[in-house]
Amino acid sequence: MKRKAKEILDKMTLKEKAGLCSGEDFWHLKSVERLGLSKIMVTDGPHGLRKQAGDADHVGLNKSVAATCFPTASATASSWDPKLMYEMGEALGEECLQEDVAVILGPGANIKRSPLCGRNFEYVSEDPYHTGHMTAALINGVQSKGIGTSLKHFVMNNQEARRMTIDAVVDERAQREIYLTGFEIAVKEAQPWTVMCSYNKVDGTFLSDHKRLLTDILKDEWGHTGLVVTDWGACNDRVKGIKAGMELEMPSSGGRNDEKIVNAVNDGVLSEGTLDKAVIRIIELILKSQESRKSDFKYDVESHHILAKKVAANSSVLLKNDHILPLTQEKKIAVIGEFAKVPRYQGAGSSIINPHKIDNVCDLLTEKGIDYSYAQGYSIKNTKPNQDLIADAVKVAQGAEVVVIFAGLTDDYESEGYDRKHLDLPHNHTELIKQVSKVNSNIVVVLQNGSPVVMPWVDDVKGLLECYLHGQAGAGAVIDLLYGEVNPSGKLAETFPLALEDNSSYNYFPGSTLTVEHRESIFVGYRYYDTANKKVLFPFGYGLSYTEFSYSDLKVSKINELEYEVSLTVKNTGAVAGSEIAQLYVKNNESEIFKANKELRAFDKVYLEPNEEKQITFSLNKRSFAYYNTTISDWHVDSGLYEIQVGASSRDIRLKEGIKIEINDAVTVPNYKETAPDYYNLMNDVFEMDGKQFEVLYDKKLPKRDKEKGDPYTELSTMIEVREKFVGKLLFNMIKKQALGMVESDNSEVEEGNLAMLEAIIEEMPLRSLGMMGGDKLPKYFVDGMVMMLNSKWFKGIGLIRKK
Ligand code: BGC
Repeated sequence: MKRKAKEILDKMTLKEKAGLCSGEDFWHLKSVERLGLSKIMVTDGPHGLRKQAGDADHVGLNKSVAATCFPTASATASSWDPKLMYEMGEALGEECLQEDVAVILGPGANIKRSPLCGRNFEYVSEDPYHTGHMTAALINGVQSKGIGTSLKHFVMNNQEARRMTIDAVVDERAQREIYLTGFEIAVKEAQPWTVMCSYNKVDGTFLSDHKRLLTDILKDEWGHTGLVVTDWGACNDRVKGIKAGMELEMPSSGGRNDEKIVNAVNDGVLSEGTLDKAVIRIIELILKSQESRKSDFKYDVESHHILAKKVAANSSVLLKNDHILPLTQEKKIAVIGEFAKVPRYQGAGSSIINPHKIDNVCDLLTEKGIDYSYAQGYSIKNTKPNQDLIADAVKVAQGAEVVVIFAGLTDDYESEGYDRKHLDLPHNHTELIKQVSKVNSNIVVVLQNGSPVVMPWVDDVKGLLECYLHGQAGAGAVIDLLYGEVNPSGKLAETFPLALEDNSSYNYFPGSTLTVEHRESIFVGYRYYDTANKKVLFPFGYGLSYTEFSYSDLKVSKINELEYEVSLTVKNTGAVAGSEIAQLYVKNNESEIFKANKELRAFDKVYLEPNEEKQITFSLNKRSFAYYNTTISDWHVDSGLYEIQVGASSRDIRLKEGIKIEINDAVTVPNYKETAPDYYNLMNDVFEMDGKQFEVLYDKKLPKRDKEKGDPYTELSTMIEVREKFVGKLLFNMIKKQALGMVESDNSEVEEGNLAMLEAIIEEMPLRSLGMMGGDKLPKYFVDGMVMMLNSKWFKGIGLIRKK
């Protein structure tokens, strides 16, 4: 392959090479037919295929071909089952084969820093080890079919607010230990054909120009052999990007950037050798996908639906069960909540799938011949409690032995393009639960939501099943779980806090207009809650089953200096078969450097018949004990006592054993006890960190947080800023009108609720993104002209310039 790619490269003209570095249109790369390179298609992702055969857009406005909508990542993450991820990946690969799609744009591996991030439903976990292994399995599954993936959004894109311009200010240790590790594992274990660089900046540099992240770390250190593609419209400086290791710009730049590349080579600003290095990776991608093309391949729609149901069943998490579940068919049940008829099964934005079919609980119960009464309870179109609907629900609940309430977050709560503002359920859902629980104490709540919510009503219900966004076949899974045909086996891959303020990023999310300071450093998710001794609603790694498991026989054996084998026995001590997820954490708290109370270093899911027991074996290596030492720019293990903890959740450690590690090296361990003492002593309070102490970790002066009045407009000025000027307002209104036109068109899948997404995206869009929206229809110097007009003195007199 390498040789063939090189032969093709040698025959290419400079113009062809430059051309290959950006898309032909929204979803296709360019072809070079004379050299046998055909046009290949890349498209979203991640939990199903969003192939737009007609009009294209990057946020899911226009219809796509029918595909299987699998549960989204926050659901599948809770399965803790890499084999299942692999299987789902194979199915995604098959759908791509049929649709002649070369690369599916996913999975997403961004860390859940805050539960508010609008795209958390597309992301895996608050823990990088878990993220990395689940993601790698999915990638391996897809790629086993000869279809590429795009591991995204690389990196530190942990929020939607100002995602196109924000500078993520993260200290190097947290970058490595928290935000990069998941990507690192996925790259090393699965070699995704492409990695998608995100829109944001890190340390003041846009990802698409970021040599340290794209070349030094991703390519040189981790050995990524595929290519880096920009998120749609994320290319900052095309020539700088080539030098930094960003090979492919998507979508088309309308030829503008191809020309810049050609000029840069001709002017000696960019060497042809550097360009060749980028182009060869693109040629290799095209050749690989040409090899796996199967023109008459057809996947089995029904078996993918069945797989989607299996994934949903294994991903749901039983959070509470006071002897109410499983239900028996004789029990007279009331089903309450519109989600039982119109489920929320996926999130909004670029991942939106046009499913083959969507199951719903009510229809399936009827099909199964299970008798139930139903009340709508609330409307999914608004959040205001409707007293008539609630009164009906109360009546229905009074006549039932068990009430199953379907609640959760409606579409406009979580989406690409904006973040949530709070963790509450819609008011009409909470009010419904409150009123119904006054007349019936046998309540099971089934939740459909993409990310954690607070539950002031949790003590009023006996059963609680978290389904996340469970895909097109989720309803069948819910019924199987409620009736015990499938034993729940999912566990949370993120903490459910008691209140939003308990999250360590609370005071620093989503940051200011220019930067988002990650002052909590490594204390993300359970690393924070556990270290600060916070009470939580449900801890990381938590989930119940209809059976019980015992843990015994922990053995920790040293293989060599930093390699250990850990084994234990897990036994099913209950009456029904089930699966248990055993988690291994490592604790080391006597270092000079601050550390989290425990960190996940291994996990395994085992299926056990009643009374059956199995031995689980984990291997630990240097990384299981290491932290990232910024003085040596490498991973380092301190000498000292380590505790190996194995348990059923981060707060339910069943077995532990101490080991002593002695390392003979002269490495300086960074000691911040004098300069940043608060990191050693996290208060059980709302997390606050003095900027000076954070600056010590950041090791540079913290950049300016906010724009100042009078700063000139640039191509990075967002539409909301541009709107302050008359000429900008005209532009803003024009774009909005055009976008709304798309929504109102027959081809649109956008519901009313999603208008919020569209507005947020437009408001935060920088001027330069017009280039992407306009493609080759946009006049070449439009953006430059716009910036000039916005800043021009000529307009001052007529009040069009921002006053200083
Ligand atoms: C999203 C990506 C997506 C791309 C193409 C962007 O807005 O951030 O996740 O793959 O659009 O639709």
